[in-house]
Amino acid sequence: MSLIAITDVHKRFGENEVLKGIDLDIAKGEVIAIIGKSGSGKSTLLRCINGLETIDSGSILVGGVQLSSEEKQLRDLRQKVGMIFQQFNLFPHLSAGRNVMLAQTVVKKTPKAEARKIAEEMLDKVGLAHRFDALPDELSGGQQQRVAIARALAMKPAALLCDEITSALDPELVAEVLQVVRRLAEDGMTLITVTHEMNFAREVCSRVVFMHLGRVHEIGPPAEVFGAPKTPELRQFLGVN
Ligand code: ADP
Ligand code: MG
Repeated sequence: MSLIAITDVHKRFGENEVLKGIDLDIAKGEVIAIIGKSGSGKSTLLRCINGLETIDSGSILVGGVQLSSEEKQLRDLRQKVGMIFQQFNLFPHLSAGRNVMLAQTVVKKTPKAEARKIAEEMLDKVGLAHRFDALPDELSGGQQQRVAIARALAMKPAALLCDEITSALDPELVAEVLQVVRRLAEDGMTLITVTHEMNFAREVCSRVVFMHLGRVHEIGPPAEVFGAPKTPELRQFLGVN
């Protein structure tokens, strides 16, 4: 059974149909890269998967459970499916460790001592065990994004959605974040990542999804999508002939 099953999903904003019938099945442990031009619907698709947007028609099942707009179910869903954004959105007045503890104690009602232990563990996973007490502005952008990853992991999600998580970083900070994501992939985490990092997609992902005008225009293993693009749209996007 697929961990995430997306069937004929349509989504519009007013007159603008942004998703025009998306079908995509993702197995547990799969690492998917979503590529495509700006405006092709990549972020909207991720936001629909974790319930930040409602869909107009079609269905999305996560772990066999159908997404609805019911509040409690949405809260459960957002625990199962973590999301990391381009902007880290850490609370500036809280230490790295406190940022990682917060959702656990507030949303999951995890006791403080346990939340702290999990926060230490997750910060260790992203190579920041020694920065538990650092405030966000004492950390580099790459470190802040790693804290954001630790915060998502602390909720023990079944899948992690990453929306251009290295796009706001200075070039020299990109590698450390990608390295963390690569390690998560190797550990078996189910990942869906919208990315411009083609080398990362090629090396780490099991499948690459090329979105174009609200549709999955091509999909396949990286060797196929990058090595033998079938459509002129993908060839143009990749800058090959
Ligand atoms: P991508 O992530 O591929 O750049 P998006 O999913 O962000 O694309 O956007 C796809 C289209 O949906 C764009 O035309 C964008 O303007 C539109 N869009 C996205 N979010 C909203 C919104 N909340 N309200 C209205 N239009 C939106
Ligand atoms: Mg986007």
